[in-house]
Amino acid sequence: MTTLLIHNGWVLPCDGDMRQAHRPGYVFVRGERIEAVERGSPPDGLFAQADEVIDAAGKAVLPGLINAHTHLFQCFLRGLADDRPLLQWLAEATWPGGLAMTEHDFHLAALLGFVENLKCGATSVLDQDYVQTSPRNMDAVAEAAQRSGARVLLARGVGDREPYFAKFLEPAEVIMAETGRLIRRWNTGPTSRVRVEFGPMIPWGCRVETLQEIRRLANEWDVGVHIHVSESRDEVRMSLDEFGLSPVRWLDQIGALDDRWQLVHCVWLTPEEMDIVAGRGSLIVHCPVSNMYLASGIAPVGEWRRRGIPVALATDGPGSNNSQDMMEVLKTTACLQKVGSMDAQALLPGDVLEMALAGGARAMRLDGQIGRLAPGALADIVLVNLARPHIAPVHSAASALVYNANGNDVDTVIVGGEVLVRDGKLTRIDEAQLVAECQSAAEGIIARAGIRIAAGV
Ligand SMILES: [Zn+2]
Repeated sequence: MTTLLIHNGWVLPCDGDMRQAHRPGYVFVRGERIEAVERGSPPDGLFAQADEVIDAAGKAVLPGLINAHTHLFQCFLRGLADDRPLLQWLAEATWPGGLAMTEHDFHLAALLGFVENLKCGATSVLDQDYVQTSPRNMDAVAEAAQRSGARVLLARGVGDREPYFAKFLEPAEVIMAETGRLIRRWNTGPTSRVRVEFGPMIPWGCRVETLQEIRRLANEWDVGVHIHVSESRDEVRMSLDEFGLSPVRWLDQIGALDDRWQLVHCVWLTPEEMDIVAGRGSLIVHCPVSNMYLASGIAPVGEWRRRGIPVALATDGPGSNNSQDMMEVLKTTACLQKVGSMDAQALLPGDVLEMALAGGARAMRLDGQIGRLAPGALADIVLVNLARPHIAPVHSAASALVYNANGNDVDTVIVGGEVLVRDGKLTRIDEAQLVAECQSAAEGIIARAGIRIAAGV
């Protein structure tokens, strides 16, 4: 088994106390797992044992960040529909753009997105795919995940009821059969790099019986369920008009919610709905940049956390962000809560890291296995260069990571013991060639879809 020693860095185990840092510290990796995390310099014997030694002088060594919600096909659509609210943004650019994409386009867009996530410090990505114009689209995305080397959980999008986009609707039998096929193909082990789960898009896009069947099958197949809930006030109004219940109350009434459910956004939950989420053990994924971008609102993160609801962080799709920079999400998470509550202590750097790591690990259904540097955990590790003019001097590594660093400061990225980014450069993929291929493919899609580029662009 290959061994790797990272030493001389500012090591943040993020295992319990999020502010703890060993300076210097070292991490020893054997195969896909971490064998040792210690303060000080490594004993000479470890240098002799290591196949590769990385000197992390001036760098933070921390667990890979976890991006718990995105839609990577939107990499090809970013910037096309800026400055519109959610429902208009979906109807005018995202849905028609997705419809014009081929299987190869889905593969390329996802590969670009996985690469961007890795280069910005996210070693794990939860990607929800909702354009099932070909049964091969999901496999094309999964193959892109495999090529990139990232740890990926794919939520297989589900929509079988209008007013969800009519051209994306599928019969429930097809949804269950296809999701089952994908799970059998890709979920080869509990820690396989690419896995699949259910991804019903939105409560108003799925029939009651379909959501109930998804809950039953998720338990039988031991997978999670990923769904957008109460992202905008318009959606809450739609639910109240049709069912007389807000979305979380409705999901609970039909018996859907349990601890496998990952509820994305939840900007507009009532206190009663937050109690329901806490009681069912469901997790919330918070996407602050997207919530700002689409003017969806400020999510009550503090109220969720006070109730003990697990919270993960995410970028959301490149169409509503527009980047995949999880380092930017860290800072935005803290700042948005401060301004929303007019309380400078609303969220501290340790709270933000805890959500991005421990919360993210739970969203990936790899609780304890990723999101911390500890013996036995999977070796998903990033090195961030802190010796830069916009970061130095460093008094607290946790503060510097949350408030100063950005995705361009990520130097080295390791997934399952494999170095995927070294000195800021990809080890598996020719980056310039990929970017050129993506530019030409995206221009073809826009022409086929007849999307108008916004004035002034
Ligand atoms: Zn989303």
